[in-house]
Amino acid sequence: MHPFSFSQAEHVDVAIASLNISGAKVIAGGTNLVDLIRIGVETPNQLIDINQLPLAAVEETSQGVRINALARMSAVADATLVRDRYPMVSQALLNSASPQLRNMASIGGNLMQRTRCPYFRDQAFPCNKRQPGTGCPAIEGENRMHAILGTSRQCIATHPSDLAVALVALDAVVQLRGPDGERSIPIASFHLLPGDTPERETVLQPGELIIAVEVPASDAATQSHYLKVRDRASYEFALVSAAVGLDVDQGIVQSARVALGGVGTKPWRAYQAETVLQGQSISDETFTAAAEAALQGAIPREHNAFKIELAKRTLVRALSTVAQTGGRA
Ligand SMILES: Cc1cc2nc3c(=O)[nH]c(=O)nc-3n(C[C@H](O)[C@H](O)[C@H](O)COP(=O)(O)OP(=O)(O)OC[C@H]3O[C@@H](n4cnc5c(N)ncnc54)[C@H](O)[C@@H]3O)c2cc1C
Ligand code: SF4
Repeated sequence: MHPFSFSQAEHVDVAIASLNISGAKVIAGGTNLVDLIRIGVETPNQLIDINQLPLAAVEETSQGVRINALARMSAVADATLVRDRYPMVSQALLNSASPQLRNMASIGGNLMQRTRCPYFRDQAFPCNKRQPGTGCPAIEGENRMHAILGTSRQCIATHPSDLAVALVALDAVVQLRGPDGERSIPIASFHLLPGDTPERETVLQPGELIIAVEVPASDAATQSHYLKVRDRASYEFALVSAAVGLDVDQGIVQSARVALGGVGTKPWRAYQAETVLQGQSISDETFTAAAEAALQGAIPREHNAFKIELAKRTLVRALSTVAQTGGRA
């Protein structure tokens, strides 16, 4: 294993100063980072443990909810405020990983986790994301789990976070702090498409830390649902998932929020589907038209073409669930 030094930061500014050193990385729950260090994909020189920082609270604000970066996935999923007013967030978290992992893993770490593409994790293979310019064996190889939206000639890996899909649907904002101060980034712009630089996955600059995520309140957030389809019932990443919120008045959709997971190279907001839903009466036909719109432009590969139909059906089911039950099914 690559040797590294280890320190614990007790203040955010100390963490940021330590992080500004080349080769340094913060560690929160360690459930992704330690795994990648063990297999040699991540090779930090210095690990900065940030678990002492006062960033674990889930707080109500005048706009919605502020989820601090070190809140544990299990704590956020169980928070009454989140369960009642942002059910898709709670459901996305409860459908992620296992109870033990959720007790360790943090919200900031979840948004920063790396792809599960097997070629990325196996150094016997080239991989543009791990080592730019070496190639992408997934494009012609085993690509059943890979993306059909937002892909490039350089990389077709899916983004793995379920939480990020729900947060993208809800227009959450990521708060960052770094050597130059604080900035807020809409989560839809936080993760990057692979393009020609698949190694760059987020807009996070060297030395920056995720401090919190702010999720605005809305009727569509309260009437929302996260539906995840996977190969087994727990402890598994999404084949496809849908995060859906609907504000409906007298059977007519006033506003809609739609995002997809398991199909995009980043958490995928389906704006076209929202446009199709807006102002329409709720019906199977409307939901099917929205699903068609959401998957327009999908590029299937040899082993993952099934995801197009699966994603459409998942989206229709999620929309129907919100229409019938308010999303709490
Ligand atoms: C078997 C298994 C199954 C899983 N299944 C799912 C699943 O179904 N769905 C899902 O969404 N996830 C799943 N996960 C992933 C899991 O949710 C992530 O590993 C976890 O959320 C990472 O959080 P962490 O606090 O442990 O991050 P760490 O491992 O500590 O860190 C991960 C990365 O984030 C960076 N980081 C951490 N905190 C911050 C911060 N505040 N600011 C900036 N950078 C930061 C670290 O430097 C590192 O690069 C699974 C993991 C495993 C091992
Ligand atoms: S899909 Fe992306 S992560 Fe996977 S091998 Fe290709 S370049 Fe690497």
